[in-house]
Amino acid sequence: MELDTLKGKKILIVEDDFSSKLYLNKILEKSGAVIFNAADGKEALDTVQKNADIDLILMDIQLPLLDGYACTKILRESGNKMVIIAQTAYALTGDQESMISMGFNDYLIKPISQKQLIDKISSYLLKC
Ligand SMILES: [Mg+2]
Repeated sequence: MELDTLKGKKILIVEDDFSSKLYLNKILEKSGAVIFNAADGKEALDTVQKNADIDLILMDIQLPLLDGYACTKILRESGNKMVIIAQTAYALTGDQESMISMGFNDYLIKPISQKQLIDKISSYLLKC
C-alpha cells in the first residue's frame, strides 16, 4: 500500500470488538485517513451528527444498543449520503443487492485483509 493513499479522507470505524478496532485503526492510520471511532450504533449516530463531513463509514453489523442495520437505516432516513460499507463476520444471507436495499453501498466479510480494505475504500473515495 502506498503511504497516504487516503490522506485527509474522513473515515468512521464502527466496531465494538476491541482487537478488530485496533486492527482497522492501524491499517487506516497508515493510509493517512482521518479516523473516528464508535463502539456502538448510538455513538456512531452521535459522531456523524457532530462530523457531517465524514466520507465513509465502516459499519460492523452486530453492535450494542443499535445494530449496524438499524444504524444505517437511521442515517439514510436522515439524508446522509456518505459511503457506508458493512463489515460482518457472518456470511450474509442476502446478496449485494439486498445490502444495497438496506442502505449500504457495499460490504466486506471478516477477516478483512489490509489489501481488501484499502482497495474497497479507495474504489469509492478515490474515483474521479
Ligand atoms: Mg460486533
